[in-house]
Parts: sequence; C-alpha cells; structure tokens
Amino acid sequence: MLESTTGGATAAASSALTLDKFGAESARIGRELADQYHRYHIETEEVDDVDPLPHRFLVEVGKIGLAKFILSEVFHYGMKPDVLLSRPCTYGVFSGPVGGFSPLPKLCVGCLRCTVQHPDFVKVLPNPKRLELGDSYTTHGHIAAIDEESKRGMVPVRGQGYRGRFGGPGFDGMLTDMSEIVRPSRDGIHGRELIGTSVDIGTKPMHLSFDEEGNLQGKTPNMFTIQVPFIFDVPPGDLGTAKLAKVLDSTSQRIDTLACLKAADIVKWQMDAPNIVPIIPTQAPEMAELFPKARLVQLDGWDKDAFDTLRESTDALIGVRIEFSEGWQERLMKAVNNRVDLVHLNADLHGRGYDDNRFISDLLKEAHLLLIEKGCRDMVTLVGAGGIVSADHLPKAIISGLDAVALDLPVLFALQGRSHGSLTERDAVKGTLPRKMTQEWAEQRLTNLCASWRDQLLEILGAMGIREVRRLRGEFGRSMIVSHLEDEAFEGIEGYVSGGVA
Ligand code: SF4
Repeated sequence: MLESTTGGATAAASSALTLDKFGAESARIGRELADQYHRYHIETEEVDDVDPLPHRFLVEVGKIGLAKFILSEVFHYGMKPDVLLSRPCTYGVFSGPVGGFSPLPKLCVGCLRCTVQHPDFVKVLPNPKRLELGDSYTTHGHIAAIDEESKRGMVPVRGQGYRGRFGGPGFDGMLTDMSEIVRPSRDGIHGRELIGTSVDIGTKPMHLSFDEEGNLQGKTPNMFTIQVPFIFDVPPGDLGTAKLAKVLDSTSQRIDTLACLKAADIVKWQMDAPNIVPIIPTQAPEMAELFPKARLVQLDGWDKDAFDTLRESTDALIGVRIEFSEGWQERLMKAVNNRVDLVHLNADLHGRGYDDNRFISDLLKEAHLLLIEKGCRDMVTLVGAGGIVSADHLPKAIISGLDAVALDLPVLFALQGRSHGSLTERDAVKGTLPRKMTQEWAEQRLTNLCASWRDQLLEILGAMGIREVRRLRGEFGRSMIVSHLEDEAFEGIEGYVSGGVA
C-alpha cells in the first residue's frame, strides 16, 4: 500500500514535472513567436528644411512709434534690455538683437496682439509670396500642411479638432462620420490592437468553387499586398527626373508600397524592381518583357490588342490607366471583362473629369457602383488619382470607392519643391526640386509624409470603429455630403437655393 502510495505520488510528481516542462516549452515557443511578430510601423524622424516656405506674415514696425513705446516702457520696467526689446510679442518676433527695429517675422503666428495693442505703429500682413504658392485648388494651405507633415511626420488632426473647412467645393463638401467612437479607436492607434492599413492589389474571384473532395477549383485570388492604401504615381509634367525616381523607389521599398514610372525611364535608369510599376505605352506592349521583376505593370490606356500582347509578354499583374473622359464607363467595363487586374482612374489635378467637370468623388462612386451592379467589383482593384492633396482626401477617396490612391503633387511639395504655372493638367506641370536635396533627406521627408497620412487614416478608422481600411471602401454611409444636409435642413425655406444662396 505504502509502496503503491509512494508510486502514485511519484507518478503525480512526474506528471506535474512533465506539465511544468510542457508549460515552459509552450511559453518559450509563444515568446519566440511573439518576438518574431512585427507590427507594421513607419519610422519617422524630424528633418530640417533645405528650402523653407516663405513665412506666413510680414511684420511692419514704425521705428519712431516703437522708440517712443520702448521709452515709456523704461519707466515701468527699468533698464532691462531683454524685457524692453521683446515686448509686445510673446512669440519672440521682437526679440532679435535689436528688438522690434528688426523683427523676426518667421516666428509670427498671426495672433495680432501687437496690432491690437499698438495699431499706430505695428502692422501684420499676409505674406504675398506665401499666397502665391500653388493655385486655386492646391492652395498654399495644402502646401504648408504637406510641408509640416513631411518635416515632422506628425498626425495632422487629432480628436481635439479640425481647423479646416466644414463645407465647400470638392472634398471639403464631404464630411466623415465619426460617431462610433468605440474599440479599436485609441487602442488601435496606440498599437494595443490592430487597425489594418494594408490593401490587396490584384484580382479575386467573386466566389470560390470546390470539388467533391473539398479541393479548390477554378479561379483563385491572384494578388499581392501592400501595407498602405496609397502608391506613388508617375511624377507629372517635367518632374520625372532620375533623382526623383530614385527617391520614389527607395521610399516605396521602405514603406512597402509601389512607385509608377514610365517604362522608357525605368530602362534608361535601370530600375526594374518588384516595387516599381512600369507604365507601358499601348504602341509597345512587348516592352513588358524588359521588366522581369515587376509584380504589376500598367498599360497606358485601354487597347484590346495591346492588352492581349501584354498578357503574352509578362507574368506580372496587369493594370490599365483610364482617364475620366468621354466613354470611360465603356472602357472600364471592357477592361474588367477582359480580366485586367487593376484599373487606375485618372481625373485632372483639380480632381475634375476631362469632359463633364464632375468632381472625382462622384466619378469614383459611379465607377464603384457600376462594378457592383455588374457583379464584378472584387475582380478588380481600383486605384485613382487627381485632386488628392491632403491627408483627409485619402479616406474620402476610399469611401468614394477606391481601394488605393495614387499620389502625384504631394510628392513635389513634400520635398519642398516649387511649381511654376499650371497645376491642373498633368503634362503641363512644371516644377523644381531644391538644389540642396539629398537622397537621404528626400527619402525621410517622403517617409514622414506617408507616416503622417497613414496615422491620420488610423485616427479616422479608429473614430469610425473600423478595423481595416479594406472595409472603408465604398462605405458611403460613413460620409455626409454637406449640400445634402443643407437641402434636408433648409429646403422649402423661402430664399434657399440648393448649392448656394439666392
Ligand atoms: S501678430 Fe502676434 S505673433 Fe505676430 S508679431 Fe504680433 S504679437 Fe507677435
């Protein structure tokens, strides 16, 4: 009995030991797996300006008025030059070596305290050089926001407030519905939970088929994933230089996205790589053979013969670029029916269609709904470009039906480039990049911009309680159109005219 008891105790001890060992082993494997897990994150780092934007304000100070003011201040504060010369600005504009006699307007935030207090000798005016940046659509405000985002990589708007417009033309006329502040809101943003920003590029069948033994039959998904719902578009106008292409290449590799470049340029600069998307002219589809590493190639316009040749010439996924010009719906459906993997829809740089002048959000909705109506939306990835120049435009374009957005002008302004002339037509864009731009500096600036826009997207997804950006596609219900809200509120009231005031 004793022996048996002892034997039982020994067995129990041995079993506990085994369990302990098993537990320790299991914990070790769990730890190893956890250590291998890498949460996607874009590293930011603040970078200095190489060609700063003109400052926002001009500060004009009347020297006699200032001298009289300082004299009167001596009676209050005594001979304390640092105090005397800094007043009345708490932001340091009057704190240079000779105080307000040589103000430092770059520090002015436009609070207007000085002009209110001393209207007789201080004037603060908007700087006309700053106002000249950009054009009526891509305003100096957009450019300044991009500049700041690229410098610091910070989230432009957090929960505490949006200082932009609540209505107006274009994307300003669309508000996003953030009424569901639930998990994964802050948890997702701070990394305790996951909000996914990855998107699939390619095609999926509308349903899966299996044989009697449960094996997958017929068409299967043919796609790859990128980590952010934006890619870099072909640099517009004269911006397509080798220097900029190298920046797009290295940045797109770093953040795991794609960069579109003209096929001839890729050959010239020997840049074939999996993250580079060659744009193949319809006249020379066989050029695709020159890019064995490409995962995606794009045909520059819909052409059935060119598409067939392209299919023969490459194993890569095939996209087609289609402009929002007359007959785009027909071209879109032909391309999809011929099984292109991706359609890249282009509006002009003000986000307008080339013929009907509708805004890109309406055009994208039409494209998305057309594909749903024909029962083939998931068979194609929709990418779009034109008029997307602000962090909030990205989710708004996705709500309108895009899978991913292609960035064009923001790249120029992220790198502190300057535009000269039209910012409407892609081909007519003229711009210059800073002479002091280095590869390393430019890559970090562009990376910061991407991090900033992604973080802004996470804020919006978190506020909506949406766990991944793929679920935002075509979620029109999460947006409100200001003109619709106004119609609802004011229709029937005398003097109200839809879209304007009588
Ligand atoms: S407007 Fe405000 S920030 Fe600018 S100089 Fe006057 S006090 Fe200073």
